[in-house]
Amino acid sequence: MSDYTIVLDSSNLQKTYGGGIRALDGLTLQIKRGTIFSLLGPNGAGKTTFVRIAATQLLPSCGTISILGHDVVRDAKNVRKHIAVVPQEARPLSLQTPFEHITTYLVARGLNFNDARKRANEAIQDLKLDSHRNIICANLSGGLRQRVLIAMAMSSDADLLILDEPTLGLDPLARLEVWNLVRDYVTKSKRTILLTTHYMDEAELLSDELAIIDRGKLMVRGTPSSIKSRLENRSVAVIKSPDDSIDFQSYGQVLKAGSSIRVFIDRRRVDELVSLCLKKNLEVSVRQISLEDVFISEVGRVIDDDSTTN
Ligand code: ATP
Repeated sequence: MSDYTIVLDSSNLQKTYGGGIRALDGLTLQIKRGTIFSLLGPNGAGKTTFVRIAATQLLPSCGTISILGHDVVRDAKNVRKHIAVVPQEARPLSLQTPFEHITTYLVARGLNFNDARKRANEAIQDLKLDSHRNIICANLSGGLRQRVLIAMAMSSDADLLILDEPTLGLDPLARLEVWNLVRDYVTKSKRTILLTTHYMDEAELLSDELAIIDRGKLMVRGTPSSIKSRLENRSVAVIKSPDDSIDFQSYGQVLKAGSSIRVFIDRRRVDELVSLCLKKNLEVSVRQISLEDVFISEVGRVIDDDSTTN
């Protein structure tokens, strides 16, 4: 392991695709060693573009990004030694077993066959794949296949693991398993993980630090609690099917989400608003601020609203 405390360093990173689509618009961020860093944003925000550039699979249009001091454009070969990537919606080789798949990957990374087998065995145990070790991947569930890919990346012992939407399409239990694996790995190995997600709860629970991006721009970054403190002293009142007879704006910022509205309200005025809603027979619930609320408050729309995707 090298001595760098900043594992990934990106400065003013820009990417414009053919047709003039600006996927990244000057992204500057650093990821500290031994942390889980989440890149969060709605569909089309630029998350995959960012990780593909970091993984040396795509060239930036402008700006720089380095991994442990190695520039991803000028020194791609060295960057690749320090990273392991699980691309979005990747699948392990269907006709190989988890053990064969991990071994093949490690041999391709340059390990000799004996070391590769030893490491693959350890990864299979660490990721609790023992009972599926000899079943071909085509016959595993989506959650188990994802676990095989994560085991593969973790077995590499790379300084930086890049996981692009690792829980996409998984059921709630399988998502929890992935979260636990990722957290345990960082605690034990002190390695670093960059993951992308558009699940706010995932980022909030898992990340040491995160950045919310939208349309290729950095909206906010920090620890989940520091980001939530941007809406300090506020609660969220969710009101179903409100009519226009009440001036909700006078209680705080109001945003429409489907058939409901969310009012970002000063905690001291919650009782007043709730009584008013009850008097008007409106369904209302009040809860603590979440990361999603910060996002909505910052960009003025819900995170899975595809309507503005390029
Ligand atoms: P998602 O959550 O849906 O995976 P994302 O945040 O990962 O989205 P990107 O896949 O990086 O976003 O896409 C950012 C923007 O760049 C989008 O507008 C997308 O349509 C566009 N884009 C991505 N890849 C290409 C490409 N190869 N050619 C042209 N445009 C592209």
